[in-house]
Order: sequence, then structure tokens, then C-alpha cells
Amino acid sequence: MNWDLMIDLHKRNPRQGPGSAAQTRLAIDFSGLSSHVGTLKIADIGCGTGASTLVLAESLNAEITAVDLFSEFLDILVAQAGKRGLGDRIGTLPCSMDDLPFEEASLDAMWAEGSIYNMGFQRGIAYFRRFLKPGGVLAVSEMTWFTRERPDEIDAYWTNEYPEIATASEKIGILEEQGFAPVGYFPLPENCWTDHYYAPLQSGFDAFLARHGTAEASSIIDSERIEIALYERYRDYYGYGFYIARRMEGREPARGR
Ligand code: SAH
Repeated sequence: MNWDLMIDLHKRNPRQGPGSAAQTRLAIDFSGLSSHVGTLKIADIGCGTGASTLVLAESLNAEITAVDLFSEFLDILVAQAGKRGLGDRIGTLPCSMDDLPFEEASLDAMWAEGSIYNMGFQRGIAYFRRFLKPGGVLAVSEMTWFTRERPDEIDAYWTNEYPEIATASEKIGILEEQGFAPVGYFPLPENCWTDHYYAPLQSGFDAFLARHGTAEASSIIDSERIEIALYERYRDYYGYGFYIARRMEGREPARGR
């Protein structure tokens, strides 16, 4: 992956993956975080330019640490937060999501929209759990099959791109195995992919190709176009699922006396 090109393709857009402010708010509703008394400590992992971070900051009384591997994205987030008067609620941390500096059991919530796939769903939730307080909230959106069966073409494509793609019941089972109690699930509506993600992305393709006249740049755009065309054709079969869960203590089910 050529990260410089990836950053250049995505940094001007309002978000770097499917989602929307409305769906972030819905996940906040499921999380129950609004009823918390006092200032919440939240980490937004793989935040990109901060689409979800800004919604969290305006919706909750919280101190938010926005984490991304790339400071180019975090710099844009800081500028946006400043414009919206949310700068004092958001701190940024350029680091990898698999090497976080938080204290164990220190966070009320960990948020990760369209980013946990970078370390893998199972590995990611198993790793993140230690940083949550008991009862703390994990909220992640993740590639999900919406049906048990699907056409071979799309099955082969996504199984190759992201082998952990699975149905919601399988993902929820993994959450339970890893010591979480699921409190909510919903699939992201199509406009999270089309209007909020693919449309702005696509509108930048020509300018991107004009900035970078390399074979690598055109191959990145070709891959994006393939992904978008497949979504147009097969969107009934897959999308992002939003999973909200709480850290549970004791992984074994309670036994009778
Ligand atoms: N949450 C944002 C961005 C999703 S795109 C949104 O919904 O718009 C995935 C993000 O993960 C990108 O911003 C990318 O820079 C970041 N990322 C990729 N690998 C990472 C890693 N190892 N650690 C932290 N962030 C990572």
C-alpha cells in the first residue's frame, strides 16, 4: 500500500469510510453514554479526519483522544474541531491501533468506525478490551454479510479483500467470546456508502490522477472503481454493521449453585 497516495486520495473528503453523523448518533443512543454523570474518557480509534470524533464531541460531555496512524488526517481534524469550537474536548494521538498507550481500564468508551479491520476484528476487540473500564462501551462498524447466501462473484471478492467478513450473528458471537455483552446492532443504510463516502471520493478521482501521473495512482483508482461498481450491483448482500457492546467481567457463563 502506498500510504502517501492513500492519504492524498482521502484527506479532502468528509470521511474516509462509510458512515454518517446520523448513524454515529444512533450508536451513541444505543451506548447509553449520554446518561453518564461527569466527563467521559473516550478514544476514537482510526478516526481519520474525524467525522465521528466531531459528532462524539458535540453530543457528549467527553474528553476524546482521536487516534490515527497518520498525522496528516489528525491535523485536518484539529482544524475542523477548532472551527466548530470543539477543540478543547479533543486531543490527537498519531499512533498505531495495535500499540496504544492508554492505561488499562481507563476508558469509558472506545469508538472505531470503519477502521478495526486494519488489525482484524477479533484481534482488535480482544486487544481493545483491556483499556475499557468494566462496563465500558465498545462501538465499531465492520464489514458484514447481510445474508447467509450470496452470489459467487461478491463472495469471492470480499473474502479475498477481507477474510474476516462475516454475518452479524457471527460477529456478535465473537464479541461474546471475547468478553463483551452486545447491547446493539444495526446495519448502516446505503447512503452511508453512496452519498457520504463513495460520491465525494469519486468526485476527486480526476484531480487525483492529474496530480499523480503514475501507473500506481491509476491502479489505485481502478481498484476503487471496481469496489464501487460491485457495491452498486451487490449492496443487498453486504455493508457495514455497527456493533455496540459493553465490557463484561468473567468470560465463563455463571454456573448454578
Ligand atoms: N473513522 C474514520 C476513518 C475510517 S478509514 C471514518 O469513518 O471516516 C480507516 C482509518 O484507519 C484511516 O484514517 C487510516 O489512516 C486509519 N488506520 C489505518 N491503519 C491504522 C493503524 N494501524 N492504526 C491506526 N489507524 C490506522
